[in-house]
Amino acid sequence: MNYKEALQHPIFKIISKSVEELQVEAYVIGGFVRDFILKRGNAKDIDVVAIGSGIDLAKQVAKNLPTKPKVQVFKTYGTAMLRYNDIEIEFVGARKESYSENSRNPVVENGSLQDDQNRRDFTINALALSLNKTTFGNLLDPFNGVNDLEAKTIKTPLNPDITYSDDPLRMLRAIRFATQLNFTIEETSLHAITKNASRIKIITKERIVVELNKILESNKPSIGFLLLEQTGLLQLILPELTALKGIDEIEGQRHKDNFYHTLEVVDNISKHTNNLWLRWAALLHDIGKAPTKKFHKKIGWTFHGHEFEGSKMVFHLFKRLKMPLNDKMKFVQKMVLMSSRPIVLAQDIVTDSAVRRLVFDAGDYVDDLMTLCEADITTKNPKKFKKYHNNFKIVREKIIEVEERDHVRNFQPPISGEEIMKTFNLKPSREIGVIKEYIKEAILEGDIPNEYKPAYKLMIEKGKKLGLKVKE
Ligand code: ATP
Repeated sequence: MNYKEALQHPIFKIISKSVEELQVEAYVIGGFVRDFILKRGNAKDIDVVAIGSGIDLAKQVAKNLPTKPKVQVFKTYGTAMLRYNDIEIEFVGARKESYSENSRNPVVENGSLQDDQNRRDFTINALALSLNKTTFGNLLDPFNGVNDLEAKTIKTPLNPDITYSDDPLRMLRAIRFATQLNFTIEETSLHAITKNASRIKIITKERIVVELNKILESNKPSIGFLLLEQTGLLQLILPELTALKGIDEIEGQRHKDNFYHTLEVVDNISKHTNNLWLRWAALLHDIGKAPTKKFHKKIGWTFHGHEFEGSKMVFHLFKRLKMPLNDKMKFVQKMVLMSSRPIVLAQDIVTDSAVRRLVFDAGDYVDDLMTLCEADITTKNPKKFKKYHNNFKIVREKIIEVEERDHVRNFQPPISGEEIMKTFNLKPSREIGVIKEYIKEAILEGDIPNEYKPAYKLMIEKGKKLGLKVKE
């Protein structure tokens, strides 16, 4: 492979020139080189390691660039960052690290390129390309990272036990890369992760969530969740999911394994949406099943109320992981809460009124809810599979039909409380609510269309039944 091709962007010539002027050495390292070899097309983030001061090099590069960009300096880390058009370049001085037991923040000293490559997490992330004049474009690959890229293997440069224990975030990074790239984690690494799993406790929740999100954003998130489960990390991070594992059997009656079912749903939904929060909803849609599971002699296994229980658990889970408690969380809660509604619909004859109620309750989220429910169909019975999908097709068609006719999405009552008060000369009172509810129910049932005139007529009728008199 001609690695010079990776360095065609004019920025590299400018860095090279700056390197000459400062009489230092510099290399492009990490993800940029990895993704070039994988033809992954991620050329927006460039990491440059300088043998010397990364900050000085960044300043020199900025001076040599026509745009004279601002250099952002992070003194504590000895790093500097600048933007050139749509590229972000991070400069760091080569360093040697030593770790202590209680922190993932190492003691840092200046080091050689080799020291710096030693501190990298994986062989595939330790690849460096020279930016120095005489060796420009040469690959420095002390750990055979290129072989590991070909073999699709995640492997640490040094002893994995020490690598993961030093910085336990790397355990999640290993699993995240395995998921994103569809790579295999080398056996000894996998053992080391399993052995060091409990050290994940020294990692902040925010960093854990960054990795979980990246796993969820991959094409096939189940790869990551299976690895998390296999190594014992999932039990520590998302015990709500491991609680779904297993199949119980009493008197010959079994339920499905809700953990593997959940992973299938997440993979399914990932084929149809890039919406991270909808993927979270898929991951959590059944978490209420563990605490609500019961066995009844006559009907077998039940999970009554699991949707409501699950939606409450979403809040606690988001809070524990320091995830946003805003509209994103509310969206996930709503999806979990409503996750069985369309399924119930699709098992039976799809009536207009049931669809109208669905649209009324789901509001703007109704399409996302349908996507979730379609992904939820994991039955291995081809007849049932076809039937459910067909019924969902009908539901989707009816949603459009009902929407055009009745506008119940983000429902606005056709008769306001004020109008009711005026009509019957009422002060604020219970009757107003009763009449409004009566009209809404009639619309949802399809007894009247969502229009002013029929709603007015109904108001008069109901008012009279309640013993109210129309104001002259
Ligand atoms: P992506 O952008 O897909 O996350 P990346 O490899 O560029 O991939 P970054 O998190 O930007 O990931 O890290 C840049 C480089 O820094 C990595 O390629 C790796 O060499 C090194 N690195 C990052 N985090 C760690 C870590 N926790 N331990 C050791 N090296 C790390």
